[in-house]
This record gives sequence, structure tokens and C-alpha cells, in this order.
Amino acid sequence: MTQASSVQHVILAKPRGFCAGVVMAIEAVEKAAQQESKPLTVYHSIVHNHTVVERLTGRHGVHFVEDLDVLDALPAGGETLVFSAHGVSPQVKARARELGLSTIDATCPLVTKVHTEAKKYAREGYTILLIGDSARHQEVIGTLGEAPEATIIVGVLGKTGEGLHDPHTVTVPDPEKLVVLTQTTLSVDDTRRTVAILKARFPALVIPPSEDLCYATKNRQDEVRRIAPKVDVFLVLTSTHSSNGMRLYELAAELCPRAERLESVSDLAALDLSGVRTVGISSAASTPDDLVQAVIEQFRAINPALQVTEQGEWENIVFREPKKVGPGEQLGRLPV
Ligand code: SF4
Repeated sequence: MTQASSVQHVILAKPRGFCAGVVMAIEAVEKAAQQESKPLTVYHSIVHNHTVVERLTGRHGVHFVEDLDVLDALPAGGETLVFSAHGVSPQVKARARELGLSTIDATCPLVTKVHTEAKKYAREGYTILLIGDSARHQEVIGTLGEAPEATIIVGVLGKTGEGLHDPHTVTVPDPEKLVVLTQTTLSVDDTRRTVAILKARFPALVIPPSEDLCYATKNRQDEVRRIAPKVDVFLVLTSTHSSNGMRLYELAAELCPRAERLESVSDLAALDLSGVRTVGISSAASTPDDLVQAVIEQFRAINPALQVTEQGEWENIVFREPKKVGPGEQLGRLPV
């Protein structure tokens, strides 16, 4: 960042950063890593943030694995496997059982809710249109795995890619027996538009009474919507593979003359903020808040008179910790 930076005022969005699902998942890994006498393995990044994963690896020696085959090759003595906050398919759970692993299911309860809906509607003979931003996103893979024969993945408006069907052209076996579910972390506006397109094409489409988009996704987007039009630059701290974080960045780019994505404070060095007086900041539901504070400290180092204000309200939601389940026991978790 140029030393000529003229930033006078930072507006911090509330809520930002960790949601209840991320707190639950990270604490579950930290606690298990401390309690286990043997190496702890997590299936997929516990949450989609590089710093979180690096810290768990560096501080607690946690191993992260990305596909079923490597479960065969867990580190010597590795016996406990944690499922990430994004959820896993029943096939992954079955494989863990086959391998005789104990498991801790750190799936966010709000993702589990979508899995439950998928199973229910598939049992009742519905085709599920599952709206997602990528067919390769871990949450979409997990939900699809609950009812693969009954599910068609539809790209949220503006998203295309392998495995994603276009909402304008997707075809279904029976338009009278159709339900729409969604990934939890999409753009609120684009999801509503996508559902509207599908509803116009398939009037009998069932829309479940409670939305699948999670509270954390909606609340973070709401606050970015309020702050972004008022600032010169909006900064979003997020890893690129965080769906909810990238949606914040896209929203900020729509509403603010300039939006920038930062992985961490070191990315500030590449930005020319000359002439910028007001900066808005938010962060993904998986971004540790010390990364945000480090950015503010960098601005303060250049301008000791920096004004920092927070706008919005914190959330007050807590999810209970998941329990370890031994090999052969029924997999499950405590309710919210
Ligand atoms: Fe759960 Fe939403 Fe947080 Fe994902 S972003 S872990 S769905 S609360």
C-alpha cells in the first residue's frame, strides 16, 4: 500500500467473520486434536480459509485429506476423522465406517438441514433442483450424495461450469413433482432470481417454507449492502474458495466504485490507495478477525488519527459441539 494513503475513516461491517458453524467446527478440531493421543485427520478443509487450515496444521499437527482414496493411507496411528463444516455425502461416511475410523461430524447444522430435506423429498418421489455456484463445491457434493439419482444441480444465476445446468434450459422428468433446494452460502439476490426463473418455467415447483440460505450469509450480505455505497473502497477478507466470502466481494464490487479481495494484510502492499478517504471492510464467515484487525493496524500506522467505526449488529447464535462416534456406532450429532 502506498504510504501516500489518505485513509481517514474505516467502517467495519457487523456481523463479519466467523459464524456459529465455523466456530463449532474449528473448536471441534482443536479440542479433538488436544485430546487425541494419535494424529487427527480432517476430511476436506475444515472451513474455507487458508489461515485457519495453516494454523490447525502448524499448532495442532492436524492432517487434511481431500479424497476418499487417501483415507486408506491415513498417517500411522491416525484413527479419528473429522468431517468438515460443509458436510459430506453418505458415501464418505460409509467409507469411514469401512475403514474402522472414529468420526466427529462437524457439519454445520444448517447444511445438515438441507441434507435432511434432500432425503425427505427424494423419498417422496420428487426431483430436486439443487442451486449451487459450483458442482465441485464440497457442500454441493455432500448434498448431492444424499439423493444422487433424484438431484439436478442448477447454476445460480450467472454461474456456469461443468456439472451445472442452466436454470433457463434445464429439463426435468416430471414438472409436477419438483422441489428446489440451495447451497447455504449463495448470493441472496441471485438465488431469488434463479428460483423465480425456475418457478416461472415450472409453476408446480415446491419451495420449502424455510430458506436454505443461512443466516450468516444473509446477514453479512445485508451489511455490505448498507456500507458499500458509502465508501471509496470496500475490502473483503476472504479466501477465493470461500463461497460466502466471494459473494460478499461480488456484492461490494456491484455497489462500491472499487472493491478489493484480501487474503491477509500482506495483500495491502499491492494496492494503491492514494486519494482514498473512506474504506469499508467485511470478511467471510471463515476469516479469523485478527486478519481484519491487522489491516486496521496497517492503516493506523500510516494515519494515527484514523477513525474506525463499526456498523450493524453481532449475531448471537451458538451451535453445540459434535460428539465423537466410534467405528460401527450410528453417526450423528446433537441438535442445534
Ligand atoms: Fe453454517 Fe452458514 Fe456458517 Fe456455512 S456460513 S458454516 S452454512 S452458518
